[in-house]
Amino acid sequence: MTVVRESAGKPSVLVVEDDEETRAALVRELAARGYRTLEAVDARTALERWAAARPDVVLLDLGLPDVDGTEVIKRIRRDAMTPIVILSGRFAEREKVVALELGADDFVTKPFGLDELHARLRVALRRAAGPGADQAGRIVVGPLVFDGPRHEVRVAGHEVDLTPREFEILRVLLGELGRVVTKGRLLRAVWGTAYQDADSYVYVHVSQLRRKLAAADPSGVIRDLIVTEPGVGYRVRAPEDAPSKT
Ligand code: CA
Repeated sequence: MTVVRESAGKPSVLVVEDDEETRAALVRELAARGYRTLEAVDARTALERWAAARPDVVLLDLGLPDVDGTEVIKRIRRDAMTPIVILSGRFAEREKVVALELGADDFVTKPFGLDELHARLRVALRRAAGPGADQAGRIVVGPLVFDGPRHEVRVAGHEVDLTPREFEILRVLLGELGRVVTKGRLLRAVWGTAYQDADSYVYVHVSQLRRKLAAADPSGVIRDLIVTEPGVGYRVRAPEDAPSKT
């Protein structure tokens, strides 16, 4: 079992979930994994607890009894960048996209494994601690080295020839290492606002990017680097964040 060590002392997580059984299970498991836990059963209590304790991360169910969980995201984002990971239903793609566009950091889909939840929280906490590039401005993920300043991408030592769009897509995804990036956000970052509804551009270019990276990697590790989140977007999965399959 991995114990969280992102900050001095135990990281604190505010668990916002109205379902008694789910909340109790989450609190129990998170405590066992080294988190300090706070609980809230509705949006009003969540915002009170958040304001009073300023937890390191918020785990938020969107279906709350008083107001929609998205109101909690909006309210927190007015004041702070506290990482927010949402708990979402299996076929609720639209809900996930809305929450992410409002500033939520990530989601886990119910029913989820605890290893997956833990991986998401770990990524959210690490992101809050600052950007992942080294002093030379490079981002290294397994055999992949993304050198922003030199405008160069290498896989297992071999330079990969990317178009400017592919390079920018990779830059945005790596900048959010481990976190989901919506298709809308990729479009705005890489193509600009005029392309708002052209999801197919993203699909075509991400596919091409994946193909090029995989072709340069004899070990096959890179093939699973860019993970598709159906109906939502993409994430780069850092090898150490892959939930262990037990
Ligand atoms: Ca609920």
